[in-house]
Amino acid sequence: MNDKRICTACGTQLPLNGVRPELCPICNGDRQYVPEKGQTWTDLADLSNDYSVVVKKLNDRLYELRMAPSFAIAQRALLVLTPGGNVLWDCIALLNEPTIEFIKSKGGLKAIAFSHPHYYSTMNEWAGVFDCPLYIHQSDEQWIFNRGDHVQLWSGAEKELWDGMRLINIGGHFPGSSILHIPFLSPGGTVLCGDTFAIAPGKKHISVMYSYPNRIPLPLAEMQRIKKQVTRLPFDTMHGYADAQNIYGNAKELLETSLEKYI
Ligand SMILES: [Zn+2]
Ligand SMILES: [Zn+2]
Repeated sequence: MNDKRICTACGTQLPLNGVRPELCPICNGDRQYVPEKGQTWTDLADLSNDYSVVVKKLNDRLYELRMAPSFAIAQRALLVLTPGGNVLWDCIALLNEPTIEFIKSKGGLKAIAFSHPHYYSTMNEWAGVFDCPLYIHQSDEQWIFNRGDHVQLWSGAEKELWDGMRLINIGGHFPGSSILHIPFLSPGGTVLCGDTFAIAPGKKHISVMYSYPNRIPLPLAEMQRIKKQVTRLPFDTMHGYADAQNIYGNAKELLETSLEKYI
């Protein structure tokens, strides 16, 4: 019998033993919502039967992984290929054999790093298969409901990885909300952001909010603090939380002009 369960609304996996809340604590929090049809659960076996993983090459060293048909909040994971070891940025719920084979064919994973709790999903299974650490900012520790041996908390403003890559804590959406800054994917630097920064469908605006689905803004002082942090960061390209959320060339300019609308 499967001893885990996965929330169909957000993709969070909860242990069946121990604390068994009736509602997913992520969806029942003020940043998400329990769907009107009620709380429903699935597991990896059912996901393997009903879904596949679509892999898309974004450039020679960056691949997008997402579930098809769309599952939970349509989150995607991004695979970064680097000489010092590959990084998976964020996680999707489904981990199946074709996905494992694809990632192993590219050299496996040295680490999985997270933007925030809406991607923790089946992270323990992923870390077990690839025998790698899960980097999570300490400020989000309370949202780790299914904690395995691979979780490594980091703290402070930044965590240096390798090949010039850095995890940077931005806050806002969650206190531990972070980005991965990569200097070598584009001429001016690339930011993988999850929904620390949310790229609007028209790609003419980027928002930063406490809750996106519930339309809860951040306090003005938080927006001012985040704008200062963005100003110091060199980047021209940004890849967001879902398919098609890619901005090439003018990402920093767009984020700065977007933030100016708030302050
Ligand atoms: Zn949920
Ligand atoms: Zn989120």
